[in-house]
Amino acid sequence: MRKKLIAGNWKMNQTPSQAVVLAEAVKKSLKGSESAEVVVCPPYTALTMVRDALKGSPVHLGAQDLHWQDQGAFTGKISADMLLDAGCTHVIIGHSEQRTYFHETDETVSKKVAKALASGLVPIVCIGETLEERDAGRADEVVRKQLQAGFAGISDAGPTILAYEPVWAIGTGRNATPDQAQEMHAMIRQTMSSIFSKPVADAMRILYGGSMKPDNAAGLLSKSDIDGGLIGGAALKADSFYGIIEAAK
Ligand code: PEP
Repeated sequence: MRKKLIAGNWKMNQTPSQAVVLAEAVKKSLKGSESAEVVVCPPYTALTMVRDALKGSPVHLGAQDLHWQDQGAFTGKISADMLLDAGCTHVIIGHSEQRTYFHETDETVSKKVAKALASGLVPIVCIGETLEERDAGRADEVVRKQLQAGFAGISDAGPTILAYEPVWAIGTGRNATPDQAQEMHAMIRQTMSSIFSKPVADAMRILYGGSMKPDNAAGLLSKSDIDGGLIGGAALKADSFYGIIEAAK
């Protein structure tokens, strides 16, 4: 039985002081009866303050990226050790915004996944097709290739979590239907089974991301292969984030 997980990706939003207010509101919204695990991923500058604000709550702290090198002349980058020291347990890798705007490739995804796993961080690995690729009937092929190349050279998936995020649904208000998402999640699980093994694929959580909101979450989360959500816009308000957590029964 896979435990549902709801992760909030705050992207480049929230100054440290704003992030503390949001983290405190998320913490306060939880009643203790939720069945889902919860992760929030603030910007780097807010990590330690959010860690402190979340003390005593079950909410995990995640980062939005990492570099695969341990240290050195990599201006603007952040290492696994820095994230661990800041209190992170999870890290998002391969987000489509990184792929689109910042030259993330399947090869860099694979290096980052290896580093996260070796360091004890749980990677949340994002995959997903563009609208053009979907319309051309290539969604399965694109996502399968992202998985095969993204996990190349990785023999043990450890606690890896996947997030299927169709690019056309991110921040657009247009979500995949539950059936569309379920079909892709089942294909992703099948692909992971061929890369690793069926038991590994069966145990792996696959989140859906792309305009998940309190009013569409229950339909998506009721599907057998959808194990949670990676939430952008709706994670920036504690009440809408909580509405999704609540829908993850
Ligand atoms: C995301 O960027 O991971 C995301 C799912 O964003 P949104 O929920 O805003 O579509």
